[in-house]
Amino acid sequence: MCKIIVIGAGAAGLAAGQRLRQLGHDVLVLEAQDRIGGRVLTQHSDDGNVIELGAEFIHGEHAATWAAMQAAGQPLQAEDVVEVGQTAVRRIYVLDGRIVAGDSPFANEVERWKDSLDTHQHDDTTDLVSVADWFEQPVLAGDIAALIAQDRIARYEAAPASRLSVTALRREHKQHQSGGRNFRVTCGYDRLINLLAQGLNIRLNTPVWQVNWQADGAEVVTDDGQRLRARHVVVTVPVSLLQMGMLQFNPPLPAAKRRALHALEMGQAYKLVLRFRQAFWPEIDFLVTQGTVQTWWPLTQQQGEAALMSFTAGPAALHLSALGEAGAVARALAELERVFGAVVREQFIGAVVKDWSLDPWARGAYTYTAVGTADARDVLAQPIGPLHFAGEATLSNGHHATVHGAIESGWRVGEEIGSAKS
Ligand SMILES: Cc1cc2nc3c(=O)[nH]c(=O)nc-3n(C[C@H](O)[C@H](O)[C@H](O)COP(=O)(O)OP(=O)(O)OC[C@H]3O[C@@H](n4cnc5c(N)ncnc54)[C@H](O)[C@@H]3O)c2cc1C
Repeated sequence: MCKIIVIGAGAAGLAAGQRLRQLGHDVLVLEAQDRIGGRVLTQHSDDGNVIELGAEFIHGEHAATWAAMQAAGQPLQAEDVVEVGQTAVRRIYVLDGRIVAGDSPFANEVERWKDSLDTHQHDDTTDLVSVADWFEQPVLAGDIAALIAQDRIARYEAAPASRLSVTALRREHKQHQSGGRNFRVTCGYDRLINLLAQGLNIRLNTPVWQVNWQADGAEVVTDDGQRLRARHVVVTVPVSLLQMGMLQFNPPLPAAKRRALHALEMGQAYKLVLRFRQAFWPEIDFLVTQGTVQTWWPLTQQQGEAALMSFTAGPAALHLSALGEAGAVARALAELERVFGAVVREQFIGAVVKDWSLDPWARGAYTYTAVGTADARDVLAQPIGPLHFAGEATLSNGHHATVHGAIESGWRVGEEIGSAKS
């Protein structure tokens, strides 16, 4: 019998496995896919270009991911734009085909609306006020700055504004401790994943479909019929898959745990990269448009090529998904053409697309906190007998939906098991 089985080799599973290995435990990591990393998915091309189809930024100089890359001597590139609470200078908006600078009165008005969510007095003991409720009056009155602010808040969380809890967002913003600056991992985010995986016993292509458990241990059943016994099992499978019953628990998880699991909601995201012979856009960090494709940013490319990454999240991501890959690329090109003209098609070389709603081992991007689900993350994080739960969804300190949050959750479980009597 192996002492500990970790299900899933994403950031959370690898961090848990690594912490337990360092504590001297015998750990086996079972991963469904033929690769590690989960929602970190880096594409390296032969000519040295790096495209992040999943996580792209390290959020903050206090994040576990930042510390890990510093310790490994890996270069990070700081973004000038700060997401929370400060005016973005190199973010530009496109309104009705017109480019509006990031330091214009209009852009400041967007930031003011965004900040209002955190600064205004707001008494919602029922936790039933959504971001859409919060912005309802100004949006109905046709205030475009309020509409864009609402859209940006919801998109960042990959959520529909009508589901996202204002109370939870405010709490999470207050608790968020990782710092405000964004960094890119120039060598690729997968470098971090490989560091986390060093020395671990990982079995790829091994989906687990059932966990039979009792007070003193568990049996893990894999797709190919293997039955593996362990004293502890760490579950890091995305909540979307747990909600769909893709991993069965026998006996079923207690009712409180199931309620928490189903209360959490998985946001959607669609990443689409357009490659061009050369750049035709001004010096920008972010371009925010009003189309289906919402945010664009330039990627650093080798060999004189140029590329724009786009991030579309929430209901708009499902909209793009419904168009199919070719339809989504056509839509993205058409929307850029409205801003920059015919040069878009003249310079276009090709596209790379990742639709997270269709990824069979994620079925979404990351969780957001919906109205009325205040304590769901804490309940989900609690161990039950030999079962331990990690993954981005189990963080209630505002670090969910991030790689550093996933790592923190893995460490938490590592300590939990490390300190348990075996
Ligand atoms: C488009 C996108 C952009 C993002 N941008 C950022 C960003 O810029 N910065 C940031 O910090 N975070 C970002 N995130 C969020 C971040 O990627 C995730 O929060 C984090 O990677 C989740 O890690 P995890 O270990 O919890 O889950 P996962 O990475 O999903 O790992 C779970 C693993 O379990 C495996 N698995 C699933 N089911 C089974 C099974 N039955 N048996 C065995 N294995 C199974 C999966 O294959 C997967 O490898 C982004 C995510 C997306 C999708």
